[in-house]
Amino acid sequence: MLSESADARMKAHEGWMREALRAARDAQARDEVPIGACVVVGQEMVAVSGNRTRTDCDPTAHAEIIALRGAARKIGNYRLSEAIVYSTIEPCAMCAGALIQARVKLLVYGAQDDRAGAVHTHFQICSSDQLNHRVEVIEGVLESECRELMQEFFRARRQSSEVGDQKSISSDF
Ligand SMILES: [Zn+2]
Repeated sequence: MLSESADARMKAHEGWMREALRAARDAQARDEVPIGACVVVGQEMVAVSGNRTRTDCDPTAHAEIIALRGAARKIGNYRLSEAIVYSTIEPCAMCAGALIQARVKLLVYGAQDDRAGAVHTHFQICSSDQLNHRVEVIEGVLESECRELMQEFFRARRQSSEVGDQKSISSDF
């Protein structure tokens, strides 16, 4: 059983994850892969974004990257050493690398990504001793909600006629 303070911390993590989930749903409404991320410093959410790769025609426009950029601009520092990043899905290699570059303190994510996840599933970028920074990780916060959003999205994609190239994005959810 969680102690009272650990329980309160987990409730807080869930609250911020709901903000990331909201951004993921906004992304879905734009026909983007429904992943969302937010950055929290102290008790304040300094940035939030969903995926924007199609919207912005930018292969690097993953939710975590956009949120990190927004957070750095907002606090006026490219080092985010006091930041907690919430992501609905386990970050990919690019995003995990960006968390290292930003010196993020803690990453909290929802569901594992069996195909592209680079934190726990592959590479273990956030805990690699070959890199000059390590990010603490908490996984599985609101996991089923985060995963279901992805499953729903890819199920709809598979059912639509234009499956084709979209199928290659991911079908592991
Ligand atoms: Zn990514």
